[in-house]
Amino acid sequence: MSTAPVRFELLGRCARTMARRGRLHTPHGVIETPVFMPVGTQATVKTVAPHELQEIGAPIILANTYHLHLRPGDDLVAAAGGLHRFMQWNGAILTDSGGFQVFSLAEMRKISDDGVEFRSHIDGSRHFFSPEAVMAIENRLGADIIMAFDECPPYPADRSYLEQSVRRTLAWAERCQRAHRRPDEQALFGIVQGGVHADLRREAAAALVELDFPGYAIGGLSVGEPKPLMYDTLAATTPHLPVDKPRYLMGVGSPDDLFEGVERGVDMFDCVLPTRIARNGTVLTSRGKLVIRNAAYARDFAPLDSDCSCWVCRTFSRAYIRHLIKAGEVLGIRLTTYHNLWFLTRVMERIRAAIEEGRFPEYKREFFESFGYNDGTMREDG
Ligand SMILES: [Zn+2]
Repeated sequence: MSTAPVRFELLGRCARTMARRGRLHTPHGVIETPVFMPVGTQATVKTVAPHELQEIGAPIILANTYHLHLRPGDDLVAAAGGLHRFMQWNGAILTDSGGFQVFSLAEMRKISDDGVEFRSHIDGSRHFFSPEAVMAIENRLGADIIMAFDECPPYPADRSYLEQSVRRTLAWAERCQRAHRRPDEQALFGIVQGGVHADLRREAAAALVELDFPGYAIGGLSVGEPKPLMYDTLAATTPHLPVDKPRYLMGVGSPDDLFEGVERGVDMFDCVLPTRIARNGTVLTSRGKLVIRNAAYARDFAPLDSDCSCWVCRTFSRAYIRHLIKAGEVLGIRLTTYHNLWFLTRVMERIRAAIEEGRFPEYKREFFESFGYNDGTMREDG
């Protein structure tokens, strides 16, 4: 008799939207949902130490199978005792399947029903990802949640290609289930594909649900399609997923998309956005995005966000952080990264409280009235 390593508890639902309040029990702690997961591509959330992630309140981070397989190698990570021990992170970890990277980053890929042959973006060496190969890698990395190997089609894509791709992804999902060697320690999630076609999404979801995964991801969105189309596709997908299983929207995490995703019944999100824009000198604040590199902040001694209680905002001024970033000092991007992750983590906390208190739609409106619409670009300074 096997015990499920990850269990989802549905705590409550919004009466006016599809928003859900839940709790995910994992071998490395309890995760309150909806949750935003910071991305730690190379077994590190860039510039942030594990104890700082803990301080920020991130219960789970994402790591990338493709990158860790190429460097330092999953055999090395396994020899170190698995990803948690290797990177000294005691919270939960989710590894993606590498599908997105081999279809978008890798060179000279050759796709067949068996898998994908590609060349490493680092040294050009040849590799082959099949459902079985990816499961072996993810089993060695040892994350709490692992993703099935899927084909991630670009946008736009022909309908006939998408149909074939959905069939392939479903066949691969079944092969992943059979090849998964650590089902008592790692939960394998299936991924719904289907481009922006509601009927393909519905068929893909129904077929995956037949396979009975402990959780379901929605992949292939936020790949260049207009936002309203992404929201419609999402709304056409989540009703076909079981209510008692977690739903994860992959690669999505701008503040507007978090709210729109939650509203359509998503529980988990990941995105490089808060950490990537931080390294470019942009911070998220309660009043929208702020480009701290701009000259306007040269003599601004206020904190990044006067409504933020993070260590960075309690300690440093915009002028100092701007100076660090202009001077190319690494502390600068550490501070902006820490603040951005803190900001999004607090937004998710408030979203959860709002769902519990039956005022999610009101909180969404309040947030955007202050943050600005269209991802804060209307409030973006200079
Ligand atoms: Zn802050």
